Amino acid sequence: MKLVSGILTLLITGTAFGDAHVITTDTHRLEEVVPGVYLAQSTARLFNSNALVVVNDDDVLVVDSHITPTKARELISSIREITDNPITTLVNSHFHYDHSHGNQAFGEGVHIIGHEFTRMKMAGDPLSEHTFVRGKAGNEERLKQLQQVYEKADEARRQELKAQLDLQAAHVDAWREIAPVAPDITMSQRMTLFRGSREIQLHFLGRAHTGGDVVLYLPADKLVFTGDMALEGPSWLGDGYVDEWPETLANLLALDFEIVVPGHGRVFRDRSRLSLVQVFYRDLWSRVAALRAQGLSAEEAATEVDMTDHVKLGISAVGHDPISVARMYERMSNPD
Ligand SMILES: [Zn+2]
Repeated sequence: MKLVSGILTLLITGTAFGDAHVITTDTHRLEEVVPGVYLAQSTARLFNSNALVVVNDDDVLVVDSHITPTKARELISSIREITDNPITTLVNSHFHYDHSHGNQAFGEGVHIIGHEFTRMKMAGDPLSEHTFVRGKAGNEERLKQLQQVYEKADEARRQELKAQLDLQAAHVDAWREIAPVAPDITMSQRMTLFRGSREIQLHFLGRAHTGGDVVLYLPADKLVFTGDMALEGPSWLGDGYVDEWPETLANLLALDFEIVVPGHGRVFRDRSRLSLVQVFYRDLWSRVAALRAQGLSAEEAATEVDMTDHVKLGISAVGHDPISVARMYERMSNPD
């Protein structure tokens, strides 16, 4: 997808929290959450992740690189529409493909910071990670399904489907280019970058969504970018440490912030969402453990675990994602 430069729409949209500036490029929606700090989301109707763009006095720091080099190049082009400052630094919140497989598009001059665990995963065999393997298969399956629907459709419906089919086909193609690049700077607990007038803190607050989630914290703006370790509701748990996650969230809540930019979804300011999720993980862990103690298999526990009392999180059906429950069983058999 080509970016027509110079075409830039500036919208001022009122929100419940004051005015948020939203810039729309050909490929992205850039929401200025606090001055110089943008939530960047691809506008393509494809699964992707949020990125954070921090424009400093003399440079730009980006957190998370999207799902493919193509999507990352679109992000970089969109950043060029808001600032001429060079991108010097990329941070990976965690190793999952949808947050890190655009890394290669940033080029050699850009340092990539990640947790030691993220480096270990990405310098290992990231294309064999179960998340990537399943994501790739699902992406190809969606194309196949779209093609089948297209074949059977009448001419009018085909015209409607064509754009989505082309988009999905290009996205499947884009995955072939992926050649993961691991962070070249690692951290274990904490790192602070001073860029111009801005202090940027990077925190590892404990294991949660993965073994090495990094949270970016801007103390002056009271803003955190949490990746997938803290969303507005429960995260996907397939590589998670559900037993340790509530405590990691408590460590997050100990930071003095008012604004959460998550790895997926919209910006939110209600810290109580994080407490709800904390209780959800505690209950999920203990209820799955109880089913396991009764001798149920992971698949059976996934079908039977009842979390419907967590109405505020929108849980209305009994059961939980089987991959997440299998992961919890694995942790229960092999705690480390
Ligand atoms: Zn993730």
